[in-house]
Amino acid sequence: MIRSLLPPSSLTMTAITLLCLGVALPATGAAAAAEPKSQITILYDAFGTDAAMKKDWGFSALVEVAGKRILFDTGNDRNIFAANVKAKGVDLTKLDFVVLSHRHSDHMAGLSYVLSVNPKVKIYAPKEGFGIYGSSLPSSFYRKDESLPPQMRYYDGKPPEVMKFGTAWQGANFELIDKTTEIAPGITLMALVSDAPGTTELKELSLAVNTPNGLVLVVGCSHPGIDKIVEAAAAINPKIHLIAGGFHLVVASDDVIGKVVTSLKDTFKVENIAPGHCTGEPTFAGLKQAFGDRYIYAGVGTTLALGPSMARGERRGEAPALDENDWASYRKLAAREDPFGVLEWRRKKQLAHR
Ligand SMILES: [Zn+2]
Ligand SMILES: [Zn+2]
Repeated sequence: MIRSLLPPSSLTMTAITLLCLGVALPATGAAAAAEPKSQITILYDAFGTDAAMKKDWGFSALVEVAGKRILFDTGNDRNIFAANVKAKGVDLTKLDFVVLSHRHSDHMAGLSYVLSVNPKVKIYAPKEGFGIYGSSLPSSFYRKDESLPPQMRYYDGKPPEVMKFGTAWQGANFELIDKTTEIAPGITLMALVSDAPGTTELKELSLAVNTPNGLVLVVGCSHPGIDKIVEAAAAINPKIHLIAGGFHLVVASDDVIGKVVTSLKDTFKVENIAPGHCTGEPTFAGLKQAFGDRYIYAGVGTTLALGPSMARGERRGEAPALDENDWASYRKLAAREDPFGVLEWRRKKQLAHR
């Protein structure tokens, strides 16, 4: 059973406050304009309860925080991304900037749609040698042989000082990020590099925003490791209010999942967790068990209201897709050997499938 326990929206809260003060309430649009939103809307994912949204593998979120409207990643399919953006009524012409977390297509495919409606929008992307976002190198990087005739030499022996390498989105307004950078007051793009087999040297950007309630961290796929990203984020502000996005534990073993869940909860004392995308179903279960009311359901179409109500645990996530029997056995088992019952739950599921 799916429960919807959404609290009054911040707009409604504003309305209530104004009414309590005896202030006549203007049109809702004016009220909304007076107070910038502080929320994250999931625009792309493979699970969710909003019937108006299409589900597909990939990630995108509209992050409205610190007075900025940030599009973080753009999903896996241009048409599905466009449909979901329209279903949520998101105006892509009014963005402060776009962040592309990394070069995997399930995070980039909607960029062509973004550019079709907002061709000049600033796009932050990781800087990688010969990357898809374009790059450059001083021509001194390659060895020269002056004994060769000009027609055998690159650029006839007269290379430009800086050699530019193209992007798949020519004309787009990219700003490439090489190392962790505060791009606006309180808004940091963290640049970490993966060393995992299959994605070695892949650079990934994560978005860390300092808010009055602590750090809000949005991650795309966490290829460098969610634990490493959180460790780097804790150096910006050790009070981590929320982590949303993909933790890349979709094929991880129970051991690895257990360690990550423990470190997020006990080592980094993350306050709220809103996992999605490549976090993985068993990790959803483990995090839900560990974080309880502070597990914020974040399927496609969900809007997470940031702020003190979230910190007080007033916002409750709906359960991940587990049925009542799963939960009953899972809770019983969780009290035993492993901290959050993940191992036992998986073992039982495997036996049931034989
Ligand atoms: Zn990826
Ligand atoms: Zn991904």
